[in-house]
Amino acid sequence: MRRDTVPRDRPSPAPAPFKRRALGQHFLRDSGIARAIVDLVAPTPADLVVEIGPGQGALTGELARRAGRTLALEVDRTLIERLRAAFPAIDVHEADARTWDWPSLARPAGGRTLVVGNLPYSVGTAILTALVRAPRVIDAMALMLQREVAERVAAAPGGKTYGSLSIYVQLNWRVELAMRVPPGAFRPPPKVESAVLRLAPLPAPRVDLADERRFEAVVRAAFAQRRKTLANALASGLGVAVATVREAAAGAGVDPGRRAETLNIQEFAEVARRL
Ligand code: SAM
Repeated sequence: MRRDTVPRDRPSPAPAPFKRRALGQHFLRDSGIARAIVDLVAPTPADLVVEIGPGQGALTGELARRAGRTLALEVDRTLIERLRAAFPAIDVHEADARTWDWPSLARPAGGRTLVVGNLPYSVGTAILTALVRAPRVIDAMALMLQREVAERVAAAPGGKTYGSLSIYVQLNWRVELAMRVPPGAFRPPPKVESAVLRLAPLPAPRVDLADERRFEAVVRAAFAQRRKTLANALASGLGVAVATVREAAAGAGVDPGRRAETLNIQEFAEVARRL
């Protein structure tokens, strides 16, 4: 069963060391798709682009050609050496995109900071989670993920794919599912389909959260038992009385008999505020 959890915006234990199989090395071999991905953020000579997981460089050449400065984060040392030789004009860092210090990125004068990556499936959600914490320093992103994950991120209320990941990302970002990519576009082909998201930061969060921790806890509890009514899921997930949840929901103008997947971000925030 899939678990929906709101990623925690807190210090987390150090990621496990890399095993080659976990690096998700499916290399894009379709230059038309590579160009289309880069077009989603349309780099210019004024811009800085950070590429995540350049691999064998399918996107790197196009990025380096169009952006003023390109910086690439890769964990595989063999690939890093090859990339440095093939693209001497770009900065290739041996760095884990999950733990890189994204909020300290500096925007180039008069330009934008863009993030592009064909993300490894196994850690795609963890990398996305790290990135979405930095909406004030990134101007646009084009990220390829496993299609199922991309659909969850982009989902609107009312469907089975809508969950805590959708809410966590959409709180600060406009998300668009820009294109689907079939397994045959990669070597070796993965077992699953991929999709590319275009993300742009919102000027301000969709709702002002007085207590972000409480909001996250409420969303996590609501989706942890998504077949239950909101009242029952929150009561058991948060360890409070059903009557208390009913009262909070009613005060927020939300029917406590609804399911979590029908609530939008504003409704979750209002329920959380009253709990
Ligand atoms: N961009 C290339 C392409 O499109 O062909 C490679 C994409 S491949 C799906 C993912 C790349 O991310 C691999 O080169 C892998 O070594 C690298 N990678 C895996 N985990 C990473 C991490 N935590 N941080 C940065 N790069 C990572």
